[in-house]
Amino acid sequence: MDRRVFLLLLLAGCADTSPHAPALLTTTAPPPPPTPPAPSLVAVVDAAPASALAFDAWLAAFRAKALAAGLTPQLLDRELGGVTPDPRVVSLDGKQPEFSKPVGDYIKGVISDERIAVGRRKRQELVFLPAVESRYGVPRDILLAVWAMESAFGKIQGNFDVVRSMVSLASDGRRRGWAEDQLIAALRIIDSGEASRVQLKGSWAGAMGQTQFLPSNYLTTAVDGDGDGKRDIWGSDNDALASAANLLAKGGWKPGVGWAREVILPAGFDYGLAEGPREIPAWWEVKGVKRADGLPWTAADAASPAGLLLPAGAFGPAFLALPNHFAIRSYNNSMSYALGIGLLADRFGGGGPLVAAWPVETPLGLGDRMAAQIALARLGFDPGPADGVVGAGTRKALRAWQAARGLPADGYLSMDMVARLKAQAGIV
Ligand code: CA
Repeated sequence: MDRRVFLLLLLAGCADTSPHAPALLTTTAPPPPPTPPAPSLVAVVDAAPASALAFDAWLAAFRAKALAAGLTPQLLDRELGGVTPDPRVVSLDGKQPEFSKPVGDYIKGVISDERIAVGRRKRQELVFLPAVESRYGVPRDILLAVWAMESAFGKIQGNFDVVRSMVSLASDGRRRGWAEDQLIAALRIIDSGEASRVQLKGSWAGAMGQTQFLPSNYLTTAVDGDGDGKRDIWGSDNDALASAANLLAKGGWKPGVGWAREVILPAGFDYGLAEGPREIPAWWEVKGVKRADGLPWTAADAASPAGLLLPAGAFGPAFLALPNHFAIRSYNNSMSYALGIGLLADRFGGGGPLVAAWPVETPLGLGDRMAAQIALARLGFDPGPADGVVGAGTRKALRAWQAARGLPADGYLSMDMVARLKAQAGIV
C-alpha cells in the first residue's frame, strides 16, 4: 500500500503545493521503495536513546497541547500509550520523486478504458447520485471521477493507522504544526465515537476512506449521505460521495457551470497568456481561440471568466479553464489532478477523447528540474526555491525567460528547455 502514494508525488513536475494528502491511486507501477541499509549495532546503540528522548520530549509537549485543546487525559493515555513513530511514514514523507511523469502520460493513465467502463457502470447503478447532485450542485460525473482517482471507487483506501501516521509526521518535525492539528482532529473523531481507532485507517499521510479526507476535513466537511446517523466515508458509498460533493461545494463549485473546454489556438498566438488573465470566452474568441469541438458556449459558461491552460506547452492540448477547474483544485491543488478529474468526468458522461494529441516526451529527472530552476535564478528570473517541483512560480519565471529569448512563452519545462537554460546559465 505504501508504494501507491508515489503516484501523485510523481506528478511533482506539474504539481503545485497541495493542502490535500496525496491520493492513493496509481496508474502505473511506481518505483519500489528503497531498502534502508541495515544499521550497525554500534549505530543502533548510539542512536536509539537520542531518538527516543526526542520522541518522548515531543510526546510530552504534544500532550500538553492536546489537553489545552480539550482532549481528556484518559483519551490520550488510551490512544497514545506506548505509541512509536512508524519509520515507513517518516521515510515516505522525506521522499522526492526522481522522475516527474509528463502530464500527457499522466492524463492517459487516468483516462483508462477500464476506469471509464467502471465509472459509466457506477453511474447507472448508484441510485442516490441524482439526489447528491441536486443537493450540492456538483455533477455526478465529477463525484465519480474524484472517487475513481482518490480510492479506485472505494477499493483502495490505505491501511495505515492514521493516529500513528500523524504521530510519526508530528514527531519528525518537518510538518509538525500541521500534523499535530491533524492528530488532535483524529483523536476527536475517536472520542466522538464516529469511528474507532481500528476503523481510522488511511494513506501513510493520513488521508482517510473512500474520499481520502484528512481528519480535519472529516470533522468539518464529511456528511451523512444515507441518513443512518453516521458519517461513514469508509464503508458507505453515499456518505463518501456526498462528503466529496460537500468539499467541492465549499471549495466554490458553481452549479450549472463547466470546468474547462478544450480549445484550438491560432497561428502566432501569444502563449504568454497561459495561466494569465481570466476573461469570458468572447474575449478569448477575439484572440482567435475556438472550442475544439466547434460547439457554442452555454450561457452560463459564456458569462464565466476563463483562464488559458497549456498543460503540455505550446505543442499539446489547450484548455480554457472555467471557475470549476479551480474548485476541483480545492481537493488537490494541482493543474494535472484537476484536468484528470474533469476529463475523466467528461468521459463518464459520454464525451469523447481530446482533439489534440499529447506530445510524446522524456520524463525529466529531479536533477533536470532543479538545474532548470537554478539556471532561471542565475539568469535573473526567480522561480522560487530550487526544489525540483515545477509549480506556478517556476512556470511564470520560465515564461518570462522564454519571452526574453524570443521563444514561445508557454512556461512548459521540456528537456529542450532544460538544455537551453543550462547552456545559457553555464551549468554543465
Ligand atoms: Ca451514513
